[in-house]
Parts: sequence; structure tokens; C-alpha cells
Amino acid sequence: MDDCRQQTLLFTFGVIADIQYADIDDGFNYTRTRRRYYRSGLQLLRNARKSWSESRVKPAFILQLGDIIDGFNKPKAASESALNTVLRELSSCPAEVYHVWGNHEFYNFSRSALLRSKLNSTLHTDRSMSTAPAGSGVYAYSFSPFPGFTFVVLDAYDVSLLGREKDSEQYVDAMNLIKQYNKNEDLNCPPAFNNLMQRFTMFNGGFSKDQLDWLDSLLSSADEKQEKVTIVSHLPIHPECTDNICLAWNFEELLAVIRSHTSVVCYMAGHAHDGGYCQDEDTGVHHLTVDGVIETPPDSNAFATVSVYRDRMELKGYGSITDRVFLFPSRQNDTYATAETWPSLRLLRSSGAVSRLEAERAKFHSLHCSLSAAAGIQHNNGDSQS
Ligand SMILES: [Zn+2]
Repeated sequence: MDDCRQQTLLFTFGVIADIQYADIDDGFNYTRTRRRYYRSGLQLLRNARKSWSESRVKPAFILQLGDIIDGFNKPKAASESALNTVLRELSSCPAEVYHVWGNHEFYNFSRSALLRSKLNSTLHTDRSMSTAPAGSGVYAYSFSPFPGFTFVVLDAYDVSLLGREKDSEQYVDAMNLIKQYNKNEDLNCPPAFNNLMQRFTMFNGGFSKDQLDWLDSLLSSADEKQEKVTIVSHLPIHPECTDNICLAWNFEELLAVIRSHTSVVCYMAGHAHDGGYCQDEDTGVHHLTVDGVIETPPDSNAFATVSVYRDRMELKGYGSITDRVFLFPSRQNDTYATAETWPSLRLLRSSGAVSRLEAERAKFHSLHCSLSAAAGIQHNNGDSQS
């Protein structure tokens, strides 16, 4: 290890994605190119749980990145029993499990049922959007497992055809948006373009302006406190760490919010079962897509344990997941680029750091306007309308 690196381990946490458990025989993905191991995912979860339980340093928490059971449970009336089977396995984990919701959660349960279920982790969190007036029903929350570190879980199906009642305003808005880009009768079929537009399918979704504003405010506070923030959601948001077909609908808007702050160090997602990784070249933020259990053979594994230090996170992958080191980007001096610190602000201006932040903020607001206008979405911020 590099001698300059901080040696004191602060805490560890576990990560697992796309278990998609169902008590059915193996099958294939949509294009029949990858095998899906519905039943044996439970054994892979057991392997992960055993590793975390036996580790010398017990994880502070576990991140379950969504799609915990498969949509095939629904027609078999097996949603509840499959969920109970997986949760029973997770209940013997040595730490709190924080759940993310993916498309398969909505194939099995309504949004209101999920909010009442054990998959709702907001009872154990510091801040939750579902209790805020503007965010009723949005499953976004944050928690701080260690001083100076915050984890934010975002709802990637806030703007979606999944989990919203067909007569709801949210459903109509999402339908207007997807139909602009996807002309197929079956909206689960991606548009015929071979580009980023392929993301406009029914199994993806996006983040509402209310949710992005909530995140923006949370990150402003984290910037001031010089915290390290890891954002977690089901859908990847960086085109270089996944296929076009797996990206969140308004990934640019979330990227713009992240780029306008200095506190974010990492973004983690599931959904794309063969995983992926990139580092955003503007900010140095690490974007990780975690390999899915569902497409991992029974003789392998798909989970990770992340060790957190002051200056980095070290991810130890098991089975199909690659080991990685995420050095924290050193952007946090940018935080002090405020009016109160005018001399340093001038220095930063000459280095371009402030203008980059301002440009990102401007881009974020213009993107809000363009996407919302395109979708015909009316947003009410309470005291002001935009
Ligand atoms: Zn998914």
C-alpha cells in the first residue's frame, strides 16, 4: 500500500445487488444471451451473509441495491413468500440492511405496500423525503454511519410508469415523457436508436425535481461540513459505467447536481447485471455498477465489502466483482469558494474551480427547465413556481 495513504480503518460496509430471487428454474435474460439463476441466488446471499458475519471487523451496515426478488413471483402469487425467504436470510446479517428499490420491487408490490413493508428503511435513517410535504411517497433518505460520512439513497422510480397509479399525475407525466422517445407499442422494448435514447424504457425511471431539490439542499449542507457523501440508487447515471439501456431517464440532471457540489465521492447502483465502473473526469466522483447476483453462476459469488478510510474506500469484491480503490477526489477546498472567503475565491476563480461550479449549477437549472417543459411537468415548490 502507498505510504501516503491513511492507515486507520474507520468502518466497513457490505454491498449486494439484484438478487432477484424466485423459487423457479434457471432462465435467460431478454436477449437470451445471459443465464439467470433465480433459485441459487439465495445461496449466494447466504455466502455473503456468512462472509460479513465471520469478518474480523463487522460491517457497520449492508446496502441492498434493489431487485431483491424477481417479477416472476407476482403471477405465481409468491411475492410475499419469496420476500420473506430473502429477508429471513438477511435478518441474520451482523448489521442493519439499507434497502434500495428497483423495478422488480414494483413488479411485485405497489408503492404504498412497499412503504409499509420491511423494505422501507427510512425508520432507521437520519433524514427521509417521504415525511416531507413535497416528497410524500418518494423513497429517498440519508444516514450517517460515521462522523463526516453520509450515505444518500435515491428513488430512481420517482418518475416512472412503475409503482404509480394510472390515474395519478406522476403516471401521466412519466407517460408523456417516455412517449416522446419510445414509439414502440411495448414500452419495455427500447427505442430503435443505438444511442443514449435507448434508456427510455418502462423498466427504467427517473428523479423528480422535488427529489433533486431535496438532494441539492442535502449536498449543500454536506459541502459546508466537508462531509464525504456516497449516493446510492438502483439505476446507474453515468454513460461510461453501464449500457445506454440501463441508465436513468434524466441521468444528466442528477449528474449536474452532483457536479455542482464538492461533497460527493461515489455513486453506486445495480440494475445492469454485468456491472461497470468509471470515474467522472470533471469531478473525480467514482461511479460503480455492482454485478447482479441473478446472473452469477452458483459456484461463484457477487458481493463486496467496502473498507472506508479518511482518504479512500477500498472495495474487496468476491466472485464476479472486481477489487477497486476509490481515492476521494480532492475538490473540497472548492467548498470555501464563498463570498466570505473572497481572497481564496479570487484564487479559485483564476484556477477555474469556481466558474466550473457556477457553470454546473447553471446547467442543472437549465436542464430542469428543458426536461420538465418537454414532459409537460408542472412543479409546485410551495412558495415559488418554476
Ligand atoms: Zn433493475
